[in-house]
Amino acid sequence: MAIQLPVIAKEPVRTKSPGQHGETIPKANFDVCLVRIGGNNKTSDNVTDTTRGCSGGCYGCYAARSMGVFQGRRRFDQPETQIVVGEIVQHDLLQMVRKEPYLDWVRNGVMGDPSLDWDSAVELSEYAGRVGIRTVIISKFWTLPTDEHLKRLALSGAILHFSLIPGYEWAPDLIVGKRRDGNRVRDICSALVAYDKMTRPKGMKEADSVYMRICSAEFDRNHPIGGLLAHTQDFFANFAKKQGFRILETPWKFEGKSDPRWEFLDHEKMDRAKSYTLGEGRGRKKTAGPILSPEGFDKYKEWKPFVIACDTTCDVCPNQCGTVDKEKGADVRIMIQNGEKISIKN
Ligand code: SF4
Repeated sequence: MAIQLPVIAKEPVRTKSPGQHGETIPKANFDVCLVRIGGNNKTSDNVTDTTRGCSGGCYGCYAARSMGVFQGRRRFDQPETQIVVGEIVQHDLLQMVRKEPYLDWVRNGVMGDPSLDWDSAVELSEYAGRVGIRTVIISKFWTLPTDEHLKRLALSGAILHFSLIPGYEWAPDLIVGKRRDGNRVRDICSALVAYDKMTRPKGMKEADSVYMRICSAEFDRNHPIGGLLAHTQDFFANFAKKQGFRILETPWKFEGKSDPRWEFLDHEKMDRAKSYTLGEGRGRKKTAGPILSPEGFDKYKEWKPFVIACDTTCDVCPNQCGTVDKEKGADVRIMIQNGEKISIKN
């Protein structure tokens, strides 16, 4: 039986913002600037964006609601490609390593989605690769990389993270008369499989350069739409396991009834989220916490399980976007915990 895929509302587009005296001020697109490597209060100093902004419109997107966008009066929905200059990228990366010698990777995709301009994303990754830094590209793959892009990314050592949010992506096996999304996830899965083939070292059971980032939640399986959302989450978790793509779970934090997926959640299994920075005290948002990882999983300590988590600030994150390689062993990492630098052995 053909079913109709539900439409999950998107983040409203706000073209104006209120000024100090009640006037309305039009928002501007992001400036087009040189790509620099830096950090913010959740990350280490190893993040950047080759595209700023994103037209995806996922409700509750932290980047779209960040201070820089809000106070800077920016149109997040209007992505702007930034300018990659190799010498500047490499200068910044060398400065990064000088400051934090344990950082050997850079994240592209914080304040925008790199998939909106693969040429720039690939260029950055190549410049980084030439100074021994791997690029982690975190993306919803709004556009697909070409085979040429994938080959160049593979040669540069890039790691691809497909970040999926049930409701904005649907399992490819849901058969509908006509899918409004053109079943784009089917093509994304094919691209990830192809990239894994190019990059997985011989004999390795798990992918080296492909991660499935699942923005997880406990959905109400007895609700027709909650059931489809749960099916989608299960589909991708199983697909990842079958392909050997490690799962990087990001427990989604729902802000309340205004969230379009709120009514499809299993509220019995959700709780108030703890603050990232304090690690204690319940906030306003609701989350199920990590649910795909094994029993007793410690998100502050573990990087080895098949399912790891993105649920801390980056300075204390034990898996560093999956770049801590459990196959290599013997590596020593310096992490900051409780303001102290400590070394951790793989
Ligand atoms: S996985 Fe870790 S390092 Fe990567 S974004 Fe999440 S918290 Fe930061």
